[in-house]
Amino acid sequence: MATQRMAWIGLGHMGTPMALNLIKAGYELSVYNRTDEKLKPLIDAGAKPYRSVPEICQDSDLLFVMLSDDTAVSVVFDQLLSIDIRGKLFINMSTISPDLSIKLSDMVLDKKGKYLEAPVSGSVKPAQDGTLIILAGGKDEDYDIAIPYFEKLGKLSLLLGEVGQGTKAKLAINYYMSVVVEGLAETVLFAEKNGIDRETMMFITNESACGSPMSKMKTPSILQENYPAAFPLKHMMKDIGLAQGQGLNTDTSKAISTVYKKAMDMNLGDEDLMAVIKALK
Ligand code: NAP
Repeated sequence: MATQRMAWIGLGHMGTPMALNLIKAGYELSVYNRTDEKLKPLIDAGAKPYRSVPEICQDSDLLFVMLSDDTAVSVVFDQLLSIDIRGKLFINMSTISPDLSIKLSDMVLDKKGKYLEAPVSGSVKPAQDGTLIILAGGKDEDYDIAIPYFEKLGKLSLLLGEVGQGTKAKLAINYYMSVVVEGLAETVLFAEKNGIDRETMMFITNESACGSPMSKMKTPSILQENYPAAFPLKHMMKDIGLAQGQGLNTDTSKAISTVYKKAMDMNLGDEDLMAVIKALK
């Protein structure tokens, strides 16, 4: 499959390091992003830039899509589907609603194209390190085509069933993350209120059975009270909403949703999800 003409659409926090990893692995890549400035690191690494979705689609056989949400993915797929897509494989790595993913798959198949969903677990650092977890849904034969690329992007990929199943698994693991981060924020604030400083509390947490890669990764930002986006809070808000749309209806999920919504109302959407601590303070 090395002769396939490959494209990457969407060069945000995740798309940029993921696309760069494919280039580092030796693949030739065409790239598109709505905002031109984000093309630069990819052009510097040797990618061929496009400024039109139909044109990059026309010139490619295998297209990765990594966009923010249902709206962005719908807008871009409208343009992708405006041309003849026979035989082209679309690997959609964005986190979107399972219903939209199934609808897109049907539309692509109607036009004799191929569709695999492959949302990822892991944020910017795993994207840079090529250690994401890729949760695919779709046909075996399309997954088989994707495997060599997934091996460059992640440490693990799983085909979980038909289109929709990968996205549902992604929403479940992200919900767990939303609870863990919110719980960590509450813990730190509770301790602080009772005279235990943040540094001490994070040391205790990280040494305890509750210490995790997540608590360790968030420790510097909690101590510095600075939350540059690795996983933007607005995307977690989106994913909680998607999970609720998929039937998540527990008391905890309702409370969590209220807290993240408050953080959004405080304009923290572009900060890391750990900034939810500011909404709790
Ligand atoms: P991001 O940095 O916000 O980038 C979003 C991308 O979507 C950009 O390329 C943006 O283009 C594009 N976009 C947004 N609206 C668009 C529209 N209407 N038309 C065309 N393009 C549009 O997002 P990200 O952090 O890379 O996340 C990408 C996806 O991965 C999301 O679904 C997110 O939930 C998921 N995810 C993220 C993380 C993480 O840690 N960040 C982890 C796992 C999964 P512009 O540059 O022009 O704005």
